[in-house]
Amino acid sequence: MIENSMFEEEPDIVDLAKDSTSYPTFPALDPEEVAYEPRSSRLLVRGLGENDVDDDEEDCESSARLLGMSFMNRSSAQRTHSSPYVRQLPPRSCSLPSARTTIVCVLFLVIVASMTMVLYFLPGCTFTKMGCPKSNNKTSTNGTDSELFPWAEFRLPRSISPLSYDLTLTPDFNNMDFTGHTVINMSVHHNTKRIVLHSENLNITKATFRLGNGEASDVTILEYKPRQQIAVKFSKELKAGQNCVLTLDYTADLSHTYDGFYNSSYTDQDGNKRVLAATQFEPLYARKAFPCFDEPSFKAIFQVKINRKLEYMALSNMPKVKTTLLANGFMQDEFAMTTVKMSTYLVAFIVGNFTPTSKNVSDILVSVYSVPEKRDHTDYALATASKLLEFYNDFFEINYPLQKLDLVGIPDFLAGAMENWGLITFRETTLLVGTQSSPLEKQLVASVIAHELAHQWFGNLVTMSWWSDLWLNEGFATYMQYMSLQTVLPQLDIGNLFLAMRFRAMDKDALNSSHAVSTEVNTPEQVQEMFDSVSYEKGAAILLMLNASLPGDQQFRKGIIQYLKQFSGLNTDTDDLWNSLTKVDLSNQHPNVSEMMKSWTSQKGFPLVTLSRKGDQVTLTQEHFLLTSDNASHSSSMWTVPVTYVTDSCSLAPDCRQLFTLSAKSGTLKVPESVKWLKLNYRNTGFYIVDYGHDGWGALIDAMSINAKVLTQEDRASLIHNIFSLSKLGRVSFRQVLSLLNYMSNETETTPVREALLQLNNIYHQLNKRYEQGLVTRMKSFILNLFGVLTAEQTWTKADSVSTQELRSALLETACYLEENNCTQQAKALFRHYIDSNGTFQIPGDLQRVVFSVAAQSTDDWGTLLTMYQYATYDSEKQNMLQGLASTRHSPTIVWLLSAGLNGNIIPTQDLPSVISTVCRSFTGNLFAWDFIQENWNQLIEKFPMGSFAIQRIIKAATSQLSTQSHFNQVQSFFSSLRERGSQLRSVQEALETIQLNQRWMERNLPSLDKWL
Ligand SMILES: [Zn+2]
Repeated sequence: MIENSMFEEEPDIVDLAKDSTSYPTFPALDPEEVAYEPRSSRLLVRGLGENDVDDDEEDCESSARLLGMSFMNRSSAQRTHSSPYVRQLPPRSCSLPSARTTIVCVLFLVIVASMTMVLYFLPGCTFTKMGCPKSNNKTSTNGTDSELFPWAEFRLPRSISPLSYDLTLTPDFNNMDFTGHTVINMSVHHNTKRIVLHSENLNITKATFRLGNGEASDVTILEYKPRQQIAVKFSKELKAGQNCVLTLDYTADLSHTYDGFYNSSYTDQDGNKRVLAATQFEPLYARKAFPCFDEPSFKAIFQVKINRKLEYMALSNMPKVKTTLLANGFMQDEFAMTTVKMSTYLVAFIVGNFTPTSKNVSDILVSVYSVPEKRDHTDYALATASKLLEFYNDFFEINYPLQKLDLVGIPDFLAGAMENWGLITFRETTLLVGTQSSPLEKQLVASVIAHELAHQWFGNLVTMSWWSDLWLNEGFATYMQYMSLQTVLPQLDIGNLFLAMRFRAMDKDALNSSHAVSTEVNTPEQVQEMFDSVSYEKGAAILLMLNASLPGDQQFRKGIIQYLKQFSGLNTDTDDLWNSLTKVDLSNQHPNVSEMMKSWTSQKGFPLVTLSRKGDQVTLTQEHFLLTSDNASHSSSMWTVPVTYVTDSCSLAPDCRQLFTLSAKSGTLKVPESVKWLKLNYRNTGFYIVDYGHDGWGALIDAMSINAKVLTQEDRASLIHNIFSLSKLGRVSFRQVLSLLNYMSNETETTPVREALLQLNNIYHQLNKRYEQGLVTRMKSFILNLFGVLTAEQTWTKADSVSTQELRSALLETACYLEENNCTQQAKALFRHYIDSNGTFQIPGDLQRVVFSVAAQSTDDWGTLLTMYQYATYDSEKQNMLQGLASTRHSPTIVWLLSAGLNGNIIPTQDLPSVISTVCRSFTGNLFAWDFIQENWNQLIEKFPMGSFAIQRIIKAATSQLSTQSHFNQVQSFFSSLRERGSQLRSVQEALETIQLNQRWMERNLPSLDKWL
């Protein structure tokens, strides 16, 4: 899977406050009808907010529903007392009965007996640990009133596993529900009296069981909703080696969120509403479409049949083998049985109206499906997918194993894309490319296709055993996406994007709230939270580091091929990968791959390498780079660091690079005394930060000021990123940061400019949120002056290269945001030209966001833009319009936008996280967004799974640039009041840590800013 927005810049801003005791919904408002004053605005501006959240009024029922709690467990208080585990507590001793003790004991026994009765008679299911007696032999298929659930773990027992599933699904678009018929063939591995599998929100109407070739008979299905599990219990043991079949009939509503088997709609070019149903099963949602063993290691083969009305078509993982007319007038599409075993989260089916363009590539039929009116936009995706399929077939030396590969653009889709085997689903923005589209849009589409195609091997063919090693899927797919594109489509300049992503992954991993790449996960929220930049970008970064440190360019590839071949069709954990790579590493100079890489996957964070030099002796020391330094607990962290370096005598070509392995706390290398400076981490291929010490930084800064081109642009960007990071750590002064930035007036390359802009914008926005108006003005002048010449050189006409587009869009977006006059005038002129041309003039794709954002500051043009947005069909342009709309600083309009995103009528709910992110860039927007998030939290976590990337993004957008104690108190108070509705999320810890960090930086550096800006 790839999350939407993983390619976007980090949100640029932050803010806010609040005191909520209830959670009223935001009204649907017309922008002109509102005069909304955020309750927290005064607090924010003065930075004096006090919070008095009353957390007694929790909406326990809805939170219980969200967590899948059964009715009996409605409140936390009840949960404590009604815990089924109570039954297993040893009886309290009453062995010395005084009269008083006897009374107490009798009372106690009465209470225990009452509680036991309550447990047995409460509606909903109950459960207990294995071995508790069955209470009756009720035969209803879903009546579980008084049965004991025979399993008490989050993970399923391994005594039985599925061999194959036969699924028949009949969606009904009139009632927005579906019926299902699932036949599961299973094999018994250990003697057992139970089958436990997953099911969520499925109303099971009939269940039968057959052992071997025996007769099928009805069985009772027990359900334990908190863990989304169902079970069948048997009076006699099923024996190891036996096969059996469970058949289940059920009904369920099509999901109205973006997971499971969900319904979706869009408006076609004639203004008609069209409906469709699609699936999104990763990570835990196959269980919402069919009962199954919904863990990645329970691989099986699947056969899918879809019953549909004549006017729709259906797609699934495999090719369609036949269509039959059923007695009820429905058509039944039957798809071939999968030829390879796969995990449940990779199963997919879609019912709707789609049109393909197809091509045969190495005997595989590759098709790109879109809604009919967007068929013209599929050519680029088809050509790119075809090239990449050939590349991967060749690179992995294993051919893509299915007969067909479909890529489908879904009009309403939350993630960026999902790698379902043979049926990859995408947002339209990440698949469709119009004739007018820019190279940057093509870069996005090619990246996502490259990522999802890599998954057909990494993830689909060889799958992580459990979500704790999600990085084996995502880190690899991310690495392969960049690696393959550098070879197949070098004109897309993908390296810049990959470098920027690695910097952002380091920023997150420098926090105490980060986690090891390989981390144990035991709850649905923890599984969701693994979909973050540590699994994706850090995972990819450590693979890059390993590949770059191995001698020869084929060794890494050989190890990967060996790993894929050895574990084809199986599940693995991180050690399996390192062992495969260790086997092919025949060099004796290189440290053992397994030992080296374990230090990067088993502990969070990364090293700070500090350099000190005496003559020809260079001493390197490592320590944990931890921004919020409660360092004591991590002082023992140690990495095997493949340190690369170049010197002033040879610094640009790959051959200049030298390698030193730092595997202890410190190590010493020798350089000629004549060397003036060293730059470590050549082209930033390593995942560590370097402190050169006062003299070392001085020498580099001097060299850069004379000729910046003595270093590659990646090295220059790496120095910028590192010095800002060290400033956050308190290791270098802000004055030193400014000394390095002095050279920027001569910088013309994309990567260093974008990194410097991002870092400076971040400080600007923090100052703005603190209402430091004097410093805000001076910071603005500083940024505009530093980049003034380069900005003035940018053109506003069509540009052909990706790096030119990346450079100018970053410069112009900053200049226009800071209201630089020339920039805003140019943008306004371009917008007028666009409006007046009546569709004959197109704004270059990379400039649309900046042009629409400037236009949106005028009330009239905002209205025009909204109308255009509603009629636009090309998704990429539509997204740019939405970004423009969301950049308004007009309060009533902001309120309307947030509300519209939540309702999903004019602005699809899938785009709400991105709207919030953009809204939060302005001071006003952040005020309203923070209020909105607090007031609508319950609805947000119903629409987006708790812990999901969407929720992570919303929290980060609203908090990451706050920097005062009162903001910290307000954010902490709000999230702690949520309890199980969010207080435990890692992104909340990250938010709090970030605010404290910002606060510390501001307090330390405000005097410097005052003096030096
Ligand atoms: Zn992925």
